[in-house]
Amino acid sequence: MAWVRLDDHMDEHDKVLALEDDAPEAMWMLSRALMLCNRKETDGHVPKAALGRIGSDHGPGKRRKIVGRLIEVGFLHEPGHDCPSCPDPIDGWQVHDYPDYQPTRAKLEADRQQRRDAGRRGGLAKGKRTAKRAVSEPLSEPEANGLAKSKPGPVPEPVPEPQGQTHPSADADVDASFDRFWQAYPRGKAGKPGGDGARKPAMQKWRRLTDDQRRACLVAVEHYRTHVESPDGPIAAHALTWLNQERWEDWQEPARPETNGKSRTSPSGVSAFPDGTERF
Ligand SMILES: [Zn+2]
Repeated sequence: MAWVRLDDHMDEHDKVLALEDDAPEAMWMLSRALMLCNRKETDGHVPKAALGRIGSDHGPGKRRKIVGRLIEVGFLHEPGHDCPSCPDPIDGWQVHDYPDYQPTRAKLEADRQQRRDAGRRGGLAKGKRTAKRAVSEPLSEPEANGLAKSKPGPVPEPVPEPQGQTHPSADADVDASFDRFWQAYPRGKAGKPGGDGARKPAMQKWRRLTDDQRRACLVAVEHYRTHVESPDGPIAAHALTWLNQERWEDWQEPARPETNGKSRTSPSGVSAFPDGTERF
C-alpha cells in the first residue's frame, strides 16, 4: 500500500472554492485520479479510458462535466494545454504539478532499488554475525575429552547468505500462492487451465507482483471465475493477460448484476471488454 499526499489547506484553496457546488464531487474524483496515478505510477497522467473508473459514481455526462470543472480551475490539463510546468497528456488529462506533491515513477523505482540493496546488505551482515558468534562460542568438546584448552578446535567457516536471492521459504510461499491462483482461475474455451494460457509466463509474472497484489489477485480471481462461469459469462482471458492488465483491480468486488456478461461501450467512448469492465 502506498499513499497520495493532499495539501492540508486544500479545502480553502482558491481552486477548490472556485468549484463551488461541484467541489464535493470534483474533489472526490480528483482524489481518485490521484490514487490511480499513484497506483499505476503514471506521473500524473490520467488516461481517458480511466474516466469511467474515477467517475464511476456518476453517469457519463456528469463525469465529463466534473472533469471540465477540474480543468477550468486548473487541477487538470487537457491535451494542448499551455501550462509550462506540465507535460502534454497524449490522451486524457494531466494532473497539474503532480511531481511537486506525489512521488514520481523514477523516485518509486529508486526507493525499490534501495530497499532491495538494503535487503541484500542485511542478509550479508546477518551471515557475518552468525559466523562470528559461532567462532566466539566456547568449544566444549575438547574440554570434555580432557584436551588442553589452549588447542583450539576447528573454526567454522563464515557462511554468508547467498547474494541476490530471496529466502527459499519466501519463494516457496509465492509459488504456493500461484498454485492457488492457477487452480482458482477459470478455464478457457478449450477447457484448459489459466483460461487456455501458458502457465510458466503467468508464474513468472506472479513472482514479480508484490505481496499485496498477489493477495488482491487471490480475492479477485474468485469473483472473476464466478463471473466467467455465470450463464452469459464471457470467455476467460489468458491468465497472463489478466495479470498484465492488472485486472484484479476490477474484481475486488463481485460483478454488479447490470454489467454481468453484457458487452457494452463504456461511457468514455472506449470499447469495454466483454466482461463489462473498462481498461486502459
Ligand atoms: Zn500544470
